[in-house]
Amino acid sequence: MKNKVLELRKEGIYCPDGDFFVDPRGNVERALITHAHSDHARPGHSSYLCSDTCKPLLKLRIGEHSVINSLPFGKKIKIGKATVSFHPAGHILGSAQVRVEVGGQVWVVSGDYKPQVDQTSEHFELVKCHGFISECTFGLPVYRWQPEKIIHQQINQWWSENAEEGRTSLLFAYSLGKAQRVLAGLNHEIGQIYVHSAVFPFLEHYKNAGVKLPEVIKIKKGHEYKFDQAMVIAPPAVEDSTWTRKFRTARKAFASGWMAIRGGRRRRNLDRGFILSDHADWDGLLEVIRGTEAEEIKVTHGNGDALTKYLGEQGRNCSVLEGARIRGEEEE
Ligand SMILES: [Zn+2]
Ligand SMILES: [Zn+2]
Repeated sequence: MKNKVLELRKEGIYCPDGDFFVDPRGNVERALITHAHSDHARPGHSSYLCSDTCKPLLKLRIGEHSVINSLPFGKKIKIGKATVSFHPAGHILGSAQVRVEVGGQVWVVSGDYKPQVDQTSEHFELVKCHGFISECTFGLPVYRWQPEKIIHQQINQWWSENAEEGRTSLLFAYSLGKAQRVLAGLNHEIGQIYVHSAVFPFLEHYKNAGVKLPEVIKIKKGHEYKFDQAMVIAPPAVEDSTWTRKFRTARKAFASGWMAIRGGRRRRNLDRGFILSDHADWDGLLEVIRGTEAEEIKVTHGNGDALTKYLGEQGRNCSVLEGARIRGEEEE
């Protein structure tokens, strides 16, 4: 990056005038965190700054004793010579785009984002800027999401059908963000809802933030449950574990943006795949990138080649943020 606002160091995106990093690796003095997913929020930094609603989730992730300060969305503060504010990214609860202004130049680091409306996170806010660093996890035209209402209907329909057959529905969804989004759309009248213990701790913070979630039962070790026609939400990490063995006769599904590609479901021996993503789809990426009116666009977090090429053909100054081809999104 040639701009004076941000530069790329080995730990990640750095602002020299404010002496801070955004979502860094390693051990830095001051880390600004876009959201509480583990590929953005890592333990080991001296101090953290995030949005107010991100703070309790970040605490759960990196530990009670870390130094975490937070800001309400939209509030501007000075860090060194930089003016910094957080703006909703619509990805998960508390997820933020970080706006950094130095000498009249504005850059925005998107973190993960989704312009599509959902009931469990603050609505995405479009921020005008000179430079935009955009994620591009789903930066291919094959990724186009349907409204979440339709996906919620599909999930409830699937649950009803399984319940009529007397079977349990086991739905895998990432424990922070996706699980809560699935829960918010479930029709509680169909049956009892259980959640894996990895999903449970986040729920109270969603409720504290005003998100409506149905009543659930936390599955505890050593307890016996009659799951019958219940819906069970668990993280995909336990899919092949002994934990899942007790659901031998259950119908199994996975809710993820990756379910949009063929093979994503077959590979995993699932009965269903629900295409529900917390990231922008192809159209969402284009809509936001155009909307920012940024003169310079850097893409990261995914393979940005298709998006860079497409925007380049439209006369836009877009390139992949070198050294930042980071894959391995924990939640997708
Ligand atoms: Zn994320
Ligand atoms: Zn991410």
